[in-house]
Amino acid sequence: MQIPFLSLKATNQVYEAQITEAVTQTVCSGWYILGERLKQFEIDFANYCGVKYCIGVANGLDALTILLKASEFPNNSEIIVPANSYIATILAVSNANLIPVFVEPKLENYLIDPQTIEQAITPKTKAILVTHLYGKCCEMDKINDIAQQYNLKVFEDAAQAHGAVYQNKKAGSLSDGAGFSFYPSKNLGAMGDAGAITTNDDALAEKIYSLRNYGSSQKYIFDYQGYNSRMSEIQATILNIKLPYLDADNDFRRKIAKRYLSEIHNPKIILPPIDSIDNDVWHLFVVRVKNRDLFRQFLSEHGIGTDIHYPLAPHQQSAYKSWNSLTLPITEKIHFEVVSLPLNTALTDQEISYIIYFINKY
Ligand SMILES: *Cc1c(COP(=O)(O)O)cnc(C)c1O
Repeated sequence: MQIPFLSLKATNQVYEAQITEAVTQTVCSGWYILGERLKQFEIDFANYCGVKYCIGVANGLDALTILLKASEFPNNSEIIVPANSYIATILAVSNANLIPVFVEPKLENYLIDPQTIEQAITPKTKAILVTHLYGKCCEMDKINDIAQQYNLKVFEDAAQAHGAVYQNKKAGSLSDGAGFSFYPSKNLGAMGDAGAITTNDDALAEKIYSLRNYGSSQKYIFDYQGYNSRMSEIQATILNIKLPYLDADNDFRRKIAKRYLSEIHNPKIILPPIDSIDNDVWHLFVVRVKNRDLFRQFLSEHGIGTDIHYPLAPHQQSAYKSWNSLTLPITEKIHFEVVSLPLNTALTDQEISYIIYFINKY
C-alpha cells in the first residue's frame, strides 16, 4: 500500500466540481480583488469564529504582521512568542520592527507554558503572541490573566487551528486579535495563498482594512504606509465553497486521531495529549520517537509517508543568527524527536489500520 503524508489532489477531490463551477463564475464576473466573494467570506468566517470582524489578507504571515503593525507598539517593543512554533510566528514580529522573546513550551502539549511567560515579561513587553500548534488551543485563561495583570495585548497565531475550541469559544476569538492562514494544507485550505485576521476591536479592524490595501481607506488617499495584502476573489470563492464543510472535516480528523490514540500501543512512540480530543482540530498528529530517522525509514519502506513539523527551531535558524547561542532545551528536544503521521480527510479506514499495524510493529 502507498499512503502519502498528504495529497491535496485527493483531499480536494470532493470539492472539485463545485469549486470549478464557482471559480468559472468568478472568472466571468470580471471582478477579481476586494469584491463580493471576499465580503461574503469575511462575514461567514467572522460568524464561524464568533467575532465581529474577519479581514481577508494575502497569507498567514501577512495576517500576523499586519495585526502587529496595526497595534502601533513602539519600535523594538518586546513580544512574547512560543519558542516552539513555525517560523512565520517569529517573522511576523521581526517584520513589524518588534523583538520576539522566546518562551519554552510544556513538553506534554508542545504549547507555550503560561508559567514561563511571566518570567519573560520586562518593562518593554507589549504583547503575548501564542500559537495554537497542531490544532490545539493554548491555555488561554491563564495567558489572558497574566496579560491583564501586566497590561499586555494577547494575539493568536491560529494558522493551524480553524475551528478549534477552548472553553466553548473558537480559536480566533480568544484574544485581542488572531491571524489565520488558508495555505492549501491547512484545515481550511485555499488553492493558493490566503489569510485572514479576526478581532472584536473596532479601531484595530478599521486600521487593518486600510493597512491591507496600501494604507488607504478612500481611493488614492493614503493614511498609513500600508501593504498590498488582499485575498483574491478566486481564493475567497474556493473558501466559500469549503467553509461549510470545515466542521465535518474536523470531525473526520478527530475520528482518525481517536483511532491512533486508542490503537497505537508501542512503548517507543510517545503519543500527543488526550486532555481535549474533542476540542482540538488535529491539524497534525505528532508523535515523538527517540530515533526518528529509523522510524520514518521503517514506515517509508512500507509505503507510509511522514513529515517533520519542524526539524530545526526558529532560534537555531541562520535567519536568526543572533539567537543561535540561546539554549531552549524543551524546544530543541521537541524539534529533535517529532514525527507527523498522515492525518487528512482522504484517508480510508483500511489505510489507517495499515498505518497503525506498522507503527505497532516498529
Ligand atoms: C502556515 C502557518 C503560518 C503562515 O501561513 P502562510 O499562509 O504560509 O503565510 C503561520 N503560523 C503557523 C503556525 C502556520 O502553521
